[in-house]
Parts: sequence; structure tokens; C-alpha cells
Amino acid sequence: MKINKAYKFRLYPNRKQEELINKTIGSSRFIYNYILRRKTNEEIVKKIIESHDIIVSENLQVNKMIEKENKSLRKLIINSTMSDIIRRIKYKCDWENKEYYQVDRYYASSQICSRCGKIKKDMKDINKREYECDNCGLKMDRDLNASINIMTEGLFKEYRYE
Ligand SMILES: [Zn+2]
Repeated sequence: MKINKAYKFRLYPNRKQEELINKTIGSSRFIYNYILRRKTNEEIVKKIIESHDIIVSENLQVNKMIEKENKSLRKLIINSTMSDIIRRIKYKCDWENKEYYQVDRYYASSQICSRCGKIKKDMKDINKREYECDNCGLKMDRDLNASINIMTEGLFKEYRYE
């Protein structure tokens, strides 16, 4: 006969012990997330490299600037994730003979209309998720519009003299 037994405990730690427990759990969680992130970055990069021969990204120094201005943990994590992804992409592009370009850090990728080229200043507000052009009427997801601009700019920079 199989008997399933369960025991329940309740801990009553004092303040110091409670602090210590939280620290231990907190750091375990941090390491767990860190490893999870590394694994995901690897997968993201693998997918990007597999399905593209030319890759263009924004210059990383943008992130360094943000880092100096705002040191909130969330932003630091996003930045370090982005740096890690870009570092891996560079490395893999070298390795697999694919092309990787970066666009200038002052290039206003999110403000330019990817169809007609008009600049829309109020796109600086990051909460605006959709790009809507006053000139040609283009309606597009903010990030998609910026991506197209980055790609165009990167290719233009590399091939303009040929
Ligand atoms: Zn337009």
C-alpha cells in the first residue's frame, strides 16, 4: 500500500534571517534568469543569422548613452541583453561570412517615414507605438518602420560608392 505523506512547515525567521533568506532566493533567481537569457540570446541570434545574409543594426553607443542617463535595473538588463545579442551577431557574421553593418548613432530611425522620408519629430515619444506619416499617409508599427530605415541606411552607407 502506498501512502502519500505531506509535511508542512512554517518558518518564523527573525529580521536578519529573513534578509538572508531573501538574499539567497534573490540571487538564485538572478542567476537563473541570467542563464535563461543567455540561452534565449543564443537562439535569437541563431534564427537571425540562419535566415539573413546581410544584417544591419543601430550603433551600440546609443545604449551606452542611455545607460549613463538612466541606471534603472530594467534598462541595464535590456542594454546588456542588446549588447550581448549584437556581439554574438558580429561574431557569427564574421564566422559565417555574412555581412554586418551598423548605422550611425545619431541616425533618427524612429522619426523618419520609411516610405517618403519625411521626418516626424514627435516620434521621440517612445509610447507612440504606431508611425503615422502626415505627408504620405503611411501607417506602420513603430519598430517595423524604424527597422526598414535602419536597413535602408545601412545598405546605402555601404554601397553608395559602388
Ligand atoms: Zn511618409
